Amino acid sequence: MPKTPVPPLATPLTELYGVGPERAAQLARLKLFTVGDLLLHRPNRHEDRRHLLTIRQLELGRSGTTRGRIIAQGVKTFAKRTKSVFEFVLEDGTGRLHCRWWNLPYMENYFAVGDEVMVFGKVKSLKPRSIDHPETEVIDGGEELLIHIDRIAPIYPLTEGLPQRFVRGLVWRTLARFEEHVAEPHPSVVLPDLPTRANAIHMLHFPQELSDVDIARRRLALDEFIELQIAIQRRRKNLQTLASGLPCAGDNRFIKPFLRQLGFELTEAQTKVLRELRRDMGGAFPMRRLVQGDVGSGKTVVAACCALMAIESGFSVALMVPTEILAEQHHRNFTRWFEPFGVAVELQTGSRKTRDERPSPPLAPRPAPQASLTIGTHALIESGFTVPNLGLVIIDEQHKFGVAQRETLVRKGRYPHLLVMTATPIPRTLGLTIYGDLDSSIIDQMPTGRGRIRTFVRSAILLPKVHDFIRQKIAEGRQAYIVFPRVDEGDAQAGIKAVTQEFDRLVAIFAPSKVGLLHGRLRPEEKDRVMTAFRANELQVLLATSVIEVGVDVPNATVMLIESADQFGLAQLHQLRGRIGRGAHESYCILVAEAKTDEARKRLEILANTNDGFEIAEADMRLRGPGEFLGQNQSGMPSLRFGDLLNDRALIERARELAARLV
Ligand code: ADP
Ligand code: MG
Repeated sequence: MPKTPVPPLATPLTELYGVGPERAAQLARLKLFTVGDLLLHRPNRHEDRRHLLTIRQLELGRSGTTRGRIIAQGVKTFAKRTKSVFEFVLEDGTGRLHCRWWNLPYMENYFAVGDEVMVFGKVKSLKPRSIDHPETEVIDGGEELLIHIDRIAPIYPLTEGLPQRFVRGLVWRTLARFEEHVAEPHPSVVLPDLPTRANAIHMLHFPQELSDVDIARRRLALDEFIELQIAIQRRRKNLQTLASGLPCAGDNRFIKPFLRQLGFELTEAQTKVLRELRRDMGGAFPMRRLVQGDVGSGKTVVAACCALMAIESGFSVALMVPTEILAEQHHRNFTRWFEPFGVAVELQTGSRKTRDERPSPPLAPRPAPQASLTIGTHALIESGFTVPNLGLVIIDEQHKFGVAQRETLVRKGRYPHLLVMTATPIPRTLGLTIYGDLDSSIIDQMPTGRGRIRTFVRSAILLPKVHDFIRQKIAEGRQAYIVFPRVDEGDAQAGIKAVTQEFDRLVAIFAPSKVGLLHGRLRPEEKDRVMTAFRANELQVLLATSVIEVGVDVPNATVMLIESADQFGLAQLHQLRGRIGRGAHESYCILVAEAKTDEARKRLEILANTNDGFEIAEADMRLRGPGEFLGQNQSGMPSLRFGDLLNDRALIERARELAARLV
């Protein structure tokens, strides 16, 4: 039987001329194993070697590339032979250049008098003209001249022992042999403004002009985005062919009275989003929808209405949240809301389960299950947990969960509807990629009658003044959060000690008002006790870690003091700030930081200048990069070599349209 031929681009690098075991091991460290990998090895930068400077033209303090011949070289030792300097002198007819390497005596082995050498670096002195630790390449003549000199040359990321010239030469020869095998991934896609994939790969390495490099990058990025979009759209299409939507649009019999007893009217934005949800829940396919709404925009009520639609239709609902505190809070609210309709509301967290999990005796079959709501933390995705007749899964504060966790919960049912909610606005580029398999709705309006939130950045010396201010607000009947970083991460013991000391200090400062302490390491009953007391205004000040970041809703609390604010991400600070401004009173967010650097201060000023979560999310993503912004939970993050989730919005949108035609 004939062997199936290996596709040319899958050829292992070890089969190429010049790649022995040692080189192969070095290339493997750069994750380069096949010809295809090497062709996509992206240069760090390019160097225009068409316009070399003469040695005489090299200016003090400026970087430049020059070439010449070595006329002398040697190693000098000093400080009792513990230190050394290797130096060669380069001559090109216009002048001499001294190139020096400190404490790298073996450099001597790489050069010889008479060698023609190219040198790139910053001129450190003119007397004599010298460069320390320059990048160098020995010029061999012949074909070599064509690859490395007199052109725009790629400079690659390297690894120890792997010379720049070797990689460049290998890429050059590999391109010459394999370029013709680089196929168009989708021949039907016409891209009149971009090079073919083969040309793009060539330009990526050996461009005619420096501007070609970005054109090449754009083409290769587009290819990446197309693959990503195809995967997303296929997943969607599979869902639509495999599954039909459970009829969950409801009949209003619970929602009507529920809305009547709320005490406020839904905002137009809430109503609009609910209409979209109802359409999905009665549609032909399972709903997959992301609802974005800034902190305080009223997502909980929307979730409640959505749950009621499913329950009216006879289906059960699971609601997953990231913290026990939030689970308890939701449990309390939903119980109050749903019990009048005879709907059971269960709680399922690591420490508290309200539902009896024992199997019923075999001879006494249970009556057909009543539609119920189960609220829980990660405990919901544990293997033993099931919800009979699951029609709808809701995930609150989606950004705290990974894609895999979301899918695990969905698989507890037979294609239930899925609603995910987030208060961290998703920049559009991420909405189209990471969250691309979800439809999206935005609650783009705040309930009326909210007091304004004002934000200040203050240095730690002003803390006594800030404490005075808080005392004054307490005297007016309000309450305050004081947030302190750490404790939940790193050295827990030291963190608890620090926060406990801080607690003792605050108790003294605010006496006779009462201070409570809340952190992630407390026992759940303790957390619940503290939250209940704060909600009831038995505690006026709550010292907390970022456990209160998500969801907590106490409208009478109007001051948020965040210490060491520079240790939090912007989106996280915005979330924390979202804990206040929930009632009719004016609210105050005070960010205290030893703004050591201007940058740290500028970062915090962004928050002082805007309350717009979208703007903050964009800024945060720019400052920290998409990976950090999303957090390590987001394992669904695609690895992109050429695509740029920050800046390639136009390419991403184009890829989405192209993929839609291909799928
Ligand atoms: P988030 O979107 O951050 O989850 P919540 O759902 O916790 O916000 O709502 C914040 C507060 O606003 C709650 O106290 C809630 O009862 C209240 N609320 C929600 N919708 C409205 C509305 N349409 N009018 C007035 N208050 C509302
Ligand atoms: Mg919420």
